Amino acid sequence: MDFEKIKEQYPILDDISKEKEIFWINPGKMQCEKAIAKCELTMADIDDAERRLERFAPFIMEKFPETKDKNGLIESELVEIPSMQARLNEKYQSGLKGQLLLKKDSHLAIAGSVKARGGIYEVLKHTEELALEHGLLTEEDNYAKLAEPFCRAFFEQYTIQVGSTGNLGMSIGIMSAAVGYNVIVHMSADAKQWKKDLLRSHGVTVVEYESDYSEAVKHGRELSDQNPKSYFVDDENSRTLFLGYAVAAKRLISQLKEKNISVDAEHPMFVYIPCGVGGAPGGVTFGLKQVFGEYVHAFFVEPTQAPCMVVGMASGLQSEISVQDIGLTGLTHADGLAVGRPSGFVGGVMVPFLSGEFTVKDSQLYHYMRDLLETENIFLEPSACASFAGPSRLNTYEQGLAYIKENGLESKMENAVHIAWATGGSLVPEEIREEYKNTYLEEK
Ligand SMILES: *Cc1c(COP(=O)(O)O)cnc(C)c1O
Repeated sequence: MDFEKIKEQYPILDDISKEKEIFWINPGKMQCEKAIAKCELTMADIDDAERRLERFAPFIMEKFPETKDKNGLIESELVEIPSMQARLNEKYQSGLKGQLLLKKDSHLAIAGSVKARGGIYEVLKHTEELALEHGLLTEEDNYAKLAEPFCRAFFEQYTIQVGSTGNLGMSIGIMSAAVGYNVIVHMSADAKQWKKDLLRSHGVTVVEYESDYSEAVKHGRELSDQNPKSYFVDDENSRTLFLGYAVAAKRLISQLKEKNISVDAEHPMFVYIPCGVGGAPGGVTFGLKQVFGEYVHAFFVEPTQAPCMVVGMASGLQSEISVQDIGLTGLTHADGLAVGRPSGFVGGVMVPFLSGEFTVKDSQLYHYMRDLLETENIFLEPSACASFAGPSRLNTYEQGLAYIKENGLESKMENAVHIAWATGGSLVPEEIREEYKNTYLEEK
């Protein structure tokens, strides 16, 4: 393919290839009802995932007692962060009106990241399928039964494999080990040492690659395909992962209600989610659009060196183009977002739903991290801090203001709610946090 030609055709790709921070409005976005009608997945699929997670709640509680206070549901808090909002407005002239909230998936039980939604869900779904097929379980049983030794002995015959930059491996690895599977996590070069160590401490086999995420996935998939008793969690194509993430939206309904926050024609909701291969932000966005319709405006955020989703979507080539094809390295401090080629499945689904995308430099992630620590005393890992590029920059781009105007939202921004989706951080060890707090990258 002639990528120079493609760059000429889509000038934003030229800016992206020069590592510029960009804001891209998705021209493919449709009226929400039409988008929903067009989609291969539906609300019924999300409901099904939600019910499956409820069936597993007794098992989860048994294995992870820290989930008892939520009755075995793995769910995070939604919190106001007014001091951070004031900081953004003062320090970056963000001009952010309305209310800024943080969705703390960074503090989800078991895996400490958004991956506790999709990753854990997929392991459980596979477990249910095997258990039903082999007569260990009926859907009416109390699933705590799966924690009994005879079930564990059964699952020990099976293997689960996954490719990961770190956090997906942690969620799949920890839950698979809890069920009893052999687990092999194929980790790309970006994966942090402490994540590998933590997994090994759970008895997980970690295979390390010197290549990037896409390669780790490819090798993992090949190895898994050779073993009939091995199941591969395919982050690039999995509908199951995607639906696990989407359940977040249904749970958000009651959280907003508790805070007396309405989402309707007069009260728009803006959501900003860090994006790697696309599954997590795509799934969450899909769920939000099903639940809140056209009143939710979803934006992804990616690092300037690995903006695979916006490259795929802006060019229309989806997974047929990588960030390396336009001259970027794919290397970033945001390890959770270090993906060079997006999920074609997610990109395709997102075309009619997504509002747009921001990119952000690595150096800025550490500034946001310190801003949040200083103002709200909440720690997030660098990848998760990408979410703040949204609220901090929306009003600073001409295209951002144009988006607000074109959607008839100018007079409603005082009533808007902005949610920065914090995707990870609570498992980061203390010494690594110290290192991050003192990281100042050259501002290029
Ligand atoms: C994985 C991850 C994301 C993005 O999820 P994708 O499914 O790869 O798009 C965002 N933030 C963190 C911290 C992650 O680990």
